Parts: sequence; C-alpha cells; structure tokens
Amino acid sequence: MSLFCGTACRRKSFLCYRLLSTFVTKTRYLFELKEDDDACKKAQQTGAFYLFHSLAPLLQKSEHQYLAPKHSLLELERLLGKLGQDTQRIEDSVLIGCSEQQEAWFALDLGLNSSSSINASLQKSEMEKELKGSFIELRKALFQLNVKDASLLSTAQALLHWHGAHQFCSRSGQPTKKNMAGSKRMCPSNEIIYYPQVKVWKRLSGEKLQKRWDWRWKDSTLLPSTGPFLIALS
Ligand SMILES: [Zn+2]
Repeated sequence: MSLFCGTACRRKSFLCYRLLSTFVTKTRYLFELKEDDDACKKAQQTGAFYLFHSLAPLLQKSEHQYLAPKHSLLELERLLGKLGQDTQRIEDSVLIGCSEQQEAWFALDLGLNSSSSINASLQKSEMEKELKGSFIELRKALFQLNVKDASLLSTAQALLHWHGAHQFCSRSGQPTKKNMAGSKRMCPSNEIIYYPQVKVWKRLSGEKLQKRWDWRWKDSTLLPSTGPFLIALS
C-alpha cells in the first residue's frame, strides 16, 4: 500500500515538474517574442496563423464541431498574392501563444482596412472559397469548439479588437505603432506606450460567467491552459 502510494506520489510530482518546466519554457519564449521584434519576425517564418475577417475567425465544420485551421507564413503569402493584396499586412498580425514545441501562433484580421464594404464582402467570400472554411462569429461557434481553440480564439479576437480600437494616441491624436508581437502600441510623438488590458471571464458552469482575473497583456502568459474561458479587452 505504501509502496503504491510512494510510486503514485513520485509520478504525480514528476508530472507537476514536467508541466511546470513546459510552462516556464513557453513563458520565457513568449516573453522574448514580445520584447524582441527581430525574434518575433523570425518566429513568423516557422509559426502558424489563425485568420479572422472583421473579428470573425476562420473555421471549418467537422461533424458536430468547428475546427480552427492554422496557416503557415508561406500559405498566407500565397493567399494574399492570389487575392492581389499586399503581403505587408502580415505585419498587422498579433502573437497569441505558442505550442510546447515553440511553434509561435499569430492571429491576423484580413477584413480590416478594406476600402469599401462591397469590395470587402466580395473578398471575404473569395477568401472563404480559397481557405475552404467560413468566417463565423465567435460567440455563435464557441460551444462547438474544443477548449483550447475556444480560449485561443477568444484571446486573439480580444487582442485584434483592442488594436483596432487603439490606432490613435488619446493624448496627441497621432497614429500609434504596434510592436511586432502586438503586445503594445507606441505613440512616436510623445512616446506613450499603450498595453492591452485583459479581463478574463471564466465559464464556471453552463453559461454562468464569473470575472476572475484582470491583468495586462504583457503578463498574460500566465493564462491558465485549462478550463474554457472568455476574454474581453477594454
Ligand atoms: Zn501621443
């Protein structure tokens, strides 16, 4: 009995240690990408992109649930080229996380900055055909996504929304510039730095939401990886 208990405890502490070390490695890596534009740009080469259109994520229907497809930088460049768009807009993407193997994940909204709405909706259906998926409002698809995708896409949507809403400095009115990872925006004229404020709403049971955390995006690598939750940025 005690032998069994000892083995179980050792196994449990080994598992805890492994989880912790993975967590620390990922946190360090994400911190580096948020601080170093060159490292972040390099990470895009081997990273994966989740695509949005006007804040609606690209999803693929599979049986009774939705899957969030990832695209490589090369695939993304090919798509933008095919649609006659500037690949420069890939720089609008924001870092949203990474895998255990340090594959960095980014989110990019392809629907923003469209010159006309007719043009935008035309492009949207063209993109959907090309990407073999649909841009679906996240709140409508949330319960048909797995926990990991739901939380990742919620983070991504909130961060993309925040960047869209903070294009200009509230003090000087000048355009702000995001860093490569999208963990902050800076106003070049008075050097004010804006950080996304993240509020996390944890879904405890059913549709009941409870506000749990409130922290700055730069600390948000502390995001727990378990349990479904929703995120709002203000
Ligand atoms: Zn300013």
